[in-house]
This record gives sequence, C-alpha cells and structure tokens, in this order.
Amino acid sequence: MSETNQLLQNLSTKDKRNITKILPNSWVTLDIESTGLSPKTDKIIEIGAVTFTGNELVDQFSSYINPHRKIDPFISRLTGIKQTNLDNAPDFSAIKQSFMDFIGTNTVIGHNIHFDLSFLNQNGLILSNPSIDTLKLAETILPNCMGYSLSKIAEYFELTNDNPHRSISDCILTTQVFLSLMTKLLGLDPIILTEIKRLSEHGSWDSKFLIDKILNLYPDAETSKTLLTNLSAVESINPKIKPPLHKNLLPALTRDSITSILSKNGVLSESFPEFEFRKQQIEMAFEITDSIKSQKNIIIEAGTGIGKSLAYLIPAFLSAKSNNKPIIISTNTINLQEQLIQKDIPQLVKALSTSNIPAISYTALKGKSNYICTQKFFNELNSDDLRPEDTYILSKIFIWLTQTQNGERSNINLRKKFDLEWWKKLSAESSDCLQNHNNCFLKISREIALLSDIVIVNHALLISDLNNKGNSIPNYNFLIIDEAQNLENEATRQLGFNVRLNDLSILLEFLISDLAKLHNETNKHNHENFSSIIAKNNLIFNKIKELVSKIIPQSNLLNQQLIEMLKIPDYKTSETTYILRISEETRVTSTWEKLHSEWLNIYNYLSQLHEYLRTFELSIQKFSDLPTPLQQIVNQLSDRCNNLEEIEHSITNFIGNSEDNYVYWLEAHVNLNEINFKRAPLKITEHINDLLLQNNTTILTGATLSTNENFNHIKTQLGLNDFKEVFLGSPFNYKKNALIIVPNDMPEPKEDNYQEILAKMISDATKINNAKIMGLFTSYSSLLKTAHTLQSFAKENDINLLVQKPLTSPYDLVQQFVQSTKPLLLGTSSFWEGIDLNDDLNILIFARLPFQPPNDPLFQARSELYDNPFKEYGLPQAIIKFRQGFGRLIRKQNSKGIAIILDKRILTRSYGKEFIKSIPKTSFSNQPISNIHNRMDDWLNNST
Ligand code: SF4
Repeated sequence: MSETNQLLQNLSTKDKRNITKILPNSWVTLDIESTGLSPKTDKIIEIGAVTFTGNELVDQFSSYINPHRKIDPFISRLTGIKQTNLDNAPDFSAIKQSFMDFIGTNTVIGHNIHFDLSFLNQNGLILSNPSIDTLKLAETILPNCMGYSLSKIAEYFELTNDNPHRSISDCILTTQVFLSLMTKLLGLDPIILTEIKRLSEHGSWDSKFLIDKILNLYPDAETSKTLLTNLSAVESINPKIKPPLHKNLLPALTRDSITSILSKNGVLSESFPEFEFRKQQIEMAFEITDSIKSQKNIIIEAGTGIGKSLAYLIPAFLSAKSNNKPIIISTNTINLQEQLIQKDIPQLVKALSTSNIPAISYTALKGKSNYICTQKFFNELNSDDLRPEDTYILSKIFIWLTQTQNGERSNINLRKKFDLEWWKKLSAESSDCLQNHNNCFLKISREIALLSDIVIVNHALLISDLNNKGNSIPNYNFLIIDEAQNLENEATRQLGFNVRLNDLSILLEFLISDLAKLHNETNKHNHENFSSIIAKNNLIFNKIKELVSKIIPQSNLLNQQLIEMLKIPDYKTSETTYILRISEETRVTSTWEKLHSEWLNIYNYLSQLHEYLRTFELSIQKFSDLPTPLQQIVNQLSDRCNNLEEIEHSITNFIGNSEDNYVYWLEAHVNLNEINFKRAPLKITEHINDLLLQNNTTILTGATLSTNENFNHIKTQLGLNDFKEVFLGSPFNYKKNALIIVPNDMPEPKEDNYQEILAKMISDATKINNAKIMGLFTSYSSLLKTAHTLQSFAKENDINLLVQKPLTSPYDLVQQFVQSTKPLLLGTSSFWEGIDLNDDLNILIFARLPFQPPNDPLFQARSELYDNPFKEYGLPQAIIKFRQGFGRLIRKQNSKGIAIILDKRILTRSYGKEFIKSIPKTSFSNQPISNIHNRMDDWLNNST
C-alpha cells in the first residue's frame, strides 16, 4: 500500500488488519454541492466521489455542474465555487454515465447520504447500491459527540478538512470519518455489537450488514441474550466511581493558608501559568473563611472577573478537613455546575494535591430527571413493541451506558425532540422508586454524595429537596449559593404549577390504552393467578371506561368555556399569549361560578375513577413475579394514576380552593389550542427562610445581587435577616475597555418609527470591521420583527444572523457565534444572563431597558404589595436584569466592548441614571444617530 494514499495515518495494526478484512473490495464515498437545500427546486453545482479499499484511497471523480441559473452569493462564499466555474460546466446529463460507471456496484457512503441521493434521484440517477450514512452511524455510536455535522465529527476525531464544502475534500473527510467510526465499532464489546445487531433487525438500518461483518470477526464471542436483561453486563464494563478521601493532606482553613494558595506567588500561580492575582478574589476568600469559621451568614456581590468560584471553592476545600459533613454548593445553571465539576474543581484538586493523591472528594448531584433509570431502559430494550425508529436511540443509549461514569443526561448528546422524549420516558424522574437496584445511577450518585466533601447541586434540586423534606441532598452545615439572584425565580417556579387541561384528556386516553394492553399481555403470558385477577376486575374496567367516556367530553366543554373567557378583549394579553389573571373578583362572577360547577361534575367522576383504580391497584400489588412486559404496564398504570391525581389536585386548587399567598392565571398561545392553569407564590420568603435557617451557615454570592449599591431588594425578596453584606467590585478596567453609547435622537420604544430605527441601528453596527454583535431584546415579537427586517441584509453581507427561537438551544447559538467571523446574535430572556461569549463579543445592543411587562400577572400581583410599586419593585428588577445583560460585554481583563442602549429613556427619565450608576464606571457617549457609526468604529478599531 502506498503511504501517500493512506486515509488514516495513525490506525493501529490490529484495526488496519480488521478494516482490510471487512472492506476488502472497493467502496465509494460521494458528495454533492448544490444551490440550496431542496432537491425539487435547487440544482447540483458540483459532484464528487472517491473510491477506497480498506484504508487506501484508490481513485477520484469530480465535476462542476451547470445549474443554468445565478448562484446565491452566500453559496458562492460558502463553497468557494464562482459563477464563472459553472457557466461553461457540463450539464448533469453529460456526466451522468461516467459518474455511474465510476460508482459501479460498490457500496456508497455519504454524510447525510439521503440528501445527496435525493438530488441524484431528481436528476434521473436512481442508485440501488447498498449505502451507509455516516451521520446516522455517528449519532448512534458516538453518544457524547458535541454535534453530528461533518465538521463536528471531524473535530471529535481530530481530523482536518483543507477545503470544506467542496465535493472531493468533503468526500475524503467523510471517508476518514467512516474509517474512524469503524475503529469505534471494532472497539465495542461483542456483547454490545450483538445487541445492536438485534436492534438493527427491528429497524431499517442500512449499516446492518456492516455490524454483521464486524461480528464475524468474533465467531466465539459470548452473545447470550440473558446477559442483557439487566445492568450486570454494563456493570462489568463500567466500573463504579469511588470517591477519594485524603483530605488530611490539606492545610487547615485560615487566612494564611488562603494567602498561600491565592497570592501572587501562591500555589495556584505555580500550578497555572495563566493564573492572575486578583485582590478582590483573595478578599472574597477571606470573607468566606471568616464566615465558615464564625458560622455567620454572609451575602457577597462579586463583580465580573473576580474569579468567585475559586474564592469560595478554596475555603470550602480547606474546611473539609475539619468538617464531617459535605459542603453544599448550589448553582442556578447546569452550565455552571458542569464548569465547576469539569474544570474548576479538577484544576484545584490537581494544584492542592501532593504525590498524585487527590486531596478532596467531590461530586455533582442533580434532580432525578437527569439520571437514567436502567431498569426502565432494559425493560424497553426487551420490549416486543419497539418501532423501527426507536432502534437507533436505544442503541445509542446502550452504547453510552457502557461508557458513562454517572448515567447523567448531560453526558449524552440528545438534542432532537424525539430523543428528548425518549429520555423523558427513561429518566429516573417518574420513578417514585422504592426499588433498590444495585446498579441504579441515581442511587449511586446519592451514595457518593454522602461520602463526598463537596457536593455541587443546582437551585432546582436544592428547592425541591426542601419541598420534599430533604431526601436527596445529604445533611450539611455549610451552604454556598452561587448565582443567588436566581433563587427567587427557581423557588417561584417550583412552588407554583403549570397544568394543561388537555393533559387530563390525554392521560385518560393513555389509561384506557394501558388497560387494553394489560389485557393483551395477560392473554399472552401464562400467569394463572394474575389472569384470574384480571378476569375478576372486568366489571371495574368497564366502569373505568364508562367514566372516562363521560369525563373527556365534559373536559372539552370546560376547555371551550375557558377559551371564551380568554378571548374577551378586555382581558390582559401579551404579544403571543392570552393571559387572564384570576383575581378574587373574577371568582365571584357568574361565569366563574358556572365553570366551577362544571369542574365539580368532572371532579366527582374523577373521584369515582380513582376509587376503582385504587381497588384494582391493591388487587395486583401482591404480585412480585410478573413477566417483564406485564410488570412494565402495571408500573405505567401506577405512574398514570399518580399523574392523574396531581393534575386533578392542581385544577381543583385553581378553580375552587385558591390560597391567599398565590397568584393564579390562565394562559394560552394565541392559537388557543391549549389552556394552561398557572399558579405561583406571591412571596417565597417563608420557604427560603426554611431553607436558610435549617442549616448553620449560608453564603450567598453572585455578580448582580445589589441595586443602587445596597442589598435591600434581594433581602426583601428572599426574606434575609442577619447577613453580613460585602461588595467586591470587578477588577477590570471598564473606564478604558468599555464604552456606552446612547443615541440621543432615538425615538422612544412606544413611538411608531422605533422598530424601524432599531433595525437600522443594528444593521449599521454590523458594518464595523470584524465586529461580533449581540442584540438583547425584552420582547420576542420585536426580536422576530428585527430578524425579519435584517434577513436579506445579513445574507447579502455575509453576516451570520443567529436568532433565538423557541426550540433552538442557546448553547448551539453560542457555539455558532464563537465560531463565526461575522455573527449577529439576537436573543431574549435566556441571553441576558448565564451565557458566556468569552471575549468574542465586541458590540452589545440593548433594544430597550428591561422592564417587566406590567400586565404579567405575577409581576402585577407582587407589585401590589408595595406602596410605590415602580420604585420599590419594578425598577430594582429592571436594574438587576440590565446589570446581568451588561455583564455579557467584558469577560476578560483585556476585552474591549461597546454597549449601545437604544432606549432614550436612560437619558430622559429620572430613573435613567440609576441604571448607569448600577454598572461599573465606563466611558460614556451620548450622540445623535448620525454620529454613532464613526464613534463606534473609532473607539473599537483606532483607540488603544
Ligand atoms: S432503583 Fe428505581 S430508579 Fe434506580 S434503576 Fe431501579 S427502578 Fe430505576
């Protein structure tokens, strides 16, 4: 074999030998470039293919194709293919035969090959060769790859592409990806391969024959199916984690030991060349040291760039030596939780450890829905009801189970709606599980937490643990709450509810279908006692069906009445949602009384239904030896009954038994296809006090806790008493590195031409050389209007317009932003905080000041608690949000950025200066619109 033709240079001898055995004949990889994504309306502009055998490139074919139309400049920039390359190129029909000859009868490979094949079909070339899609293969066998585009998979395998989006270059990369995937498949245990083969036979996998070929390499492999009915097969491959316990190696917690670690010449500066000494960081660590030692509560605002994580982690580590209970650290986002677990803590452990002995044990603990229930997974794996489309995801999860250390959702790439629905079905969430499987990841995670020195949780788990009287988080003496500004929102979310009326009918329909399945399965399995119980319960089943047939139409009627209420124009609406606050006045109207009596009818039927279901449940509880499919349905029925009770309880509370300390409202999308009953607590202070008082010491921190240089707002909202208050400003030089610009002739947001000028200002900003821009909106409709206006401008100017949409993941948008040379990201709520664009952001645009919509029911109800609602509640809330948004701008010592505030009220209203006062002192420019572009360009590109 010639060395220059080798596709993968660093293949092991064993893999090379096996790949050659599996691919002894020629294979072809093909790729087309086109004018767009639709085979019906778009045209091929380039076609390429390579043949290879084993690891060797044999031959290649490529040709431009004349599309007989002008190609979009975007496509031209993306591919590097110019109009002049195509104008004299052959038609597809002219190269069709030679291309077919090149492919011959070989197996064809492609990345998302069905896209390429559908373009060929459209041009009259129907290939019946066996095919393999590297996209499908990668999605299944690389469960933790960050993404499945060709470039993401190439990144995963550390492969490079010199000429992306050109046919031959993409063909070679796809072949390399395919061979790398082969090495992954060859590395799988034959037991796993056998199971994947079994699943592939249920599905319509084009790569089925490949798995057969690999399995043929292991003629004597143990492939007994009994190994795969529980986790023992996985367990033998995936050893459990044992937390290390060497904390005696750490110094005691004193200010001196903190200095020895965080000072200019301390341990961290020796361990990490990039470590920067920050005075505020060491001060924060001192404050936390004092708080832990004196067991006094403290609230610390730590400005951006202090490095607050290290400032609390180090005292937490050092106190572990004398503390026999874990310290709990709670973050708002799973992102920060991951950053602590994956980056900050391991770095610190390494720096503080001697002789490779870890000095501390730590773990992350998440809510139940973040862990897979292996029992449910194996039940599904062995179910007879698998649909072809289920087989890929089950294979993926199966492979992942053999690799994951903790069974957590964050370690598997599940982004599609279909995959997420499967996760929901398999997660440990709905298992109010009294079972005690040894291999349960949820159980293992809680056991490890008990033995750990530091346990990282998130606010959601912290609050739910409080609500459930503490059965998930180990006992603790010290609690550090980071991102404490979000505690109120999380408590509000968890102490309230959001129930859809439609869910009631859906659940009842599922219930009937479960009962039918139960009958079918009982007939299939020869379990005499169970069969006789089912037969005896026939009368009950009929009663249940009868009740369901009465409840569903009544519930539809109720739904209709609610829709009529929501449609009345006087009621409050937002842009995309109808909202109706249910006040005490609403509850005494005749409309509500009628509704109440309708619900009482439904409620009576539901009560009877529960009685029957409970009687039936009691009669089958005694069986502990049911075959798996039967047991599965019994468990499912029990889950359905619990869900039904929850929904019934919530709607009853909403319609009939409202409580004083709660706000109630109805909400529906403007298409009115589903009504939501929503409830939220008016105040959360009592609940938070329970959380904070049950433990000795609480440390609250965050970058945006204060307003107007005091903590009064957060103290009132959370009901904090007896907390030492500390402010530590950012170490960054904002005066030098940040400029705020306010156009003083900008119309006010309520004026007619505001939206038009907003879009114009954003498009002007994109004309600044090399500027990476993010626009923050407070209203989704304004965001969409702006995106719509800018769409063709962005395309013509090669701007990567990234728009937040309901189902787009903020993480994906951030990744695309960072990787683009000219991105313009438009985002709403989740982009105002918690995302980190590093120093990739140059211009941050505030579409308007972030006041809450006054008709938001919760905001409205909470405002009513104050004498001066705007000053005491609305303004502080908006200032905190503004500070959070502004915090996105400068993330590193030498980052430089401009914030443009397109809301003139910051200049013209008396409260405007409070916004400016709330952020670090920056350069400030108040200019007419016509000057803004030059001012920005000058400051960003010319000033030093
Ligand atoms: S113990 Fe419960 S949650 Fe854990 S694997 Fe078993 S059934 Fe699932």
